[in-house]
Amino acid sequence: MGHQEVEPLLNLLSFLSSREMLANENSCPSISSVVAAKRKLHAQQQNDKHKKLLEEKVWQGSIVRKSVSEDTAWNSAIFCLPPSLVKFGVNAIINTLPSRNNLKRWKLISDDACPLCQNGQTIQHVLSFCKPALVSGRFTWRHNTVLKPIADYVRSLLPPSVIIHVDDLPEYKYDQPFLHTVHTTTLRPDIVLVEAKSKTFVMIELSCPDDENMNQRRTFKQKKYEPLVQNATANHWKTQLHTIEISTRGFHNGSLKRTLSAIGSQWKHPPTKTDISAMCSITSELCLHASYFIWLSQHHLFPCPPTLTPSRSLPKPRPMVSNAGMGVND
Ligand SMILES: [Zn+2]
Repeated sequence: MGHQEVEPLLNLLSFLSSREMLANENSCPSISSVVAAKRKLHAQQQNDKHKKLLEEKVWQGSIVRKSVSEDTAWNSAIFCLPPSLVKFGVNAIINTLPSRNNLKRWKLISDDACPLCQNGQTIQHVLSFCKPALVSGRFTWRHNTVLKPIADYVRSLLPPSVIIHVDDLPEYKYDQPFLHTVHTTTLRPDIVLVEAKSKTFVMIELSCPDDENMNQRRTFKQKKYEPLVQNATANHWKTQLHTIEISTRGFHNGSLKRTLSAIGSQWKHPPTKTDISAMCSITSELCLHASYFIWLSQHHLFPCPPTLTPSRSLPKPRPMVSNAGMGVND
């Protein structure tokens, strides 16, 4: 017996009970079956409720375990932040921020529509998927906030023979015509490193996706730039593409560490583990901080402010190990 069939019978049962006509439920088989159905339905509803709650707790537990056991940068960053940012970060990862879908789940509102686009508003929607928010540039602003210290640190690892191009940051130039000497393209990787004498061409692409979409984003970027990698290689450039993913909630997947190590080693300037850890913590904090701004602005479109600055200094470059200024293959 389904829920819709039981409901009218339950109403009838309540009516009969109120009139004290239900003296003995076992004396009437039809009423007895209604009572049994009522109990079964109630038990089913309780089971569903407990199952949903349990699933949510398991998900929350897996996220918390991830933050505690896997991402030391996130741990290092979160415990040095102002209390309001810590509170946002913890609530964001266990899905207890007052997003409209949570408010509806908690029965505080009846409509979970996003005020900007009218789609269902979850935390992920606010931080990653809301189209008007994307168009307004706030996700790009967060991306550039995280890109700036990465570009600054990468620049500190390079010899003078390597020219760095960084897109969207006013402190850097982005010489697209020059890039056409490698290969004519309309693509604009976030960071491009070019060393003419060794014909080395390195692209770095940063993404700040939702936690669940980091692998998907990396695959997307690899496919997007694959033709450029092939064409530049065909033009006799030693070409590399590095993708970096740092999630909206500040989690790392190891890509920043791999990229900094590879670039530092390539130009005889390998960063220490301490420096890489510091860079991971700095970018975790900036990404989380920018997401907090986006969260606070969820009801309106804000004019993107200047990119946020790190709360601590970037690691200082170490002396080059040997062959300063020479490409990896020299
Ligand atoms: Zn929206």
